[in-house]
Amino acid sequence: MSPALAILLSALAMTAIVGTRYLAASGAFALATRIRHPGLYRGLDRQMRREIGWSLASAAIYGAPAGIVAWGWREHGWTRIYSDVSAWPLWYLPVSVLLYLAAHDAWFYWTHRWMHRPRPFRIAHAVHHASRPPTAWAAMAFHPLEAIAGAVVIPLLVFVIPIHVAALGLVLAIMTVMGVTNHMGWEIFPRWMHSGPLGSWLITASHHQRHHAEYACNYGLYFRFWDRLCGTDKGLGDFRSLRRGVHSAGRREPDLDA
Ligand SMILES: [Zn+2]
Ligand SMILES: [Zn+2]
Repeated sequence: MSPALAILLSALAMTAIVGTRYLAASGAFALATRIRHPGLYRGLDRQMRREIGWSLASAAIYGAPAGIVAWGWREHGWTRIYSDVSAWPLWYLPVSVLLYLAAHDAWFYWTHRWMHRPRPFRIAHAVHHASRPPTAWAAMAFHPLEAIAGAVVIPLLVFVIPIHVAALGLVLAIMTVMGVTNHMGWEIFPRWMHSGPLGSWLITASHHQRHHAEYACNYGLYFRFWDRLCGTDKGLGDFRSLRRGVHSAGRREPDLDA
C-alpha cells in the first residue's frame, strides 16, 4: 500500500473513532439529562441537530492530524508515546496525564481568549456560542477553523511530552467527558469538584456555563489557573439565567444543582 493511501485510511479510521466517541459520549449524557432533568432540552431540537452537524464535521478535522500521527507512530516510530510501562518510572504516569491536561488547558485558554476578539469571533467562534443554552451535543460544535486549533494540540504534544499509551487514552477520555459535561446544562459532579478549595481550581459545567452566559470571562478548559491569574474568572454560573432568555417565562425550571 502506498504511504498516501495508508495515511488516508488512518485519517478515516481516526475520524470514525472520534465521531463514534462523540456520538456515544454526548448520547449517553443526553440520555442522563433526559432521566435526571426531563424537559431540560425542550424546544432545542433544531439547535441540537445543528450541534451534531458541526460536531461531526469537527470529528473529521480532528481525525486528520490524529490519523497522520498514528500512522507515523506505527510505521516509523514517530512521537514519544511508549507502550512498555517500565520505560519511565511509575510516578511519571499521573504526572504525564497532568502535564498533558495543563498544556492543553493553556493552549485552549489563550486561543479561546483570542477567538473572543471581534473578528475571529464573528468568523469562527460564534458557531460555538450559537448554542444558547448549550446541550450535551455541543461538545464539539465548532467552526472548522476553531476545530483545527483544537485538533492539533494532542498530535503536537505527543512529539514533545513522553506518555504511556494508556495514559494518553485517559487524557482523551477526560477530554471527551469534560467537553460533554461542561455543556450539559446541569452539574453532574460532586460539590467538592466545583466548590470548595479544590473546586476553586477545577472547571466543570458550573464554571463553563457562565462563559456561555456572559462571554467575556471563564475561558479555561480544565483548570481555573489562567482565568484566576489573568483576572477573567468570574466564578460559577447560574444555570437558570442562561435558560431564562430562551424559554418562555412561567415554565417551571427543573432543579439543576447536583
Ligand atoms: Zn463552550
Ligand atoms: Zn467562547
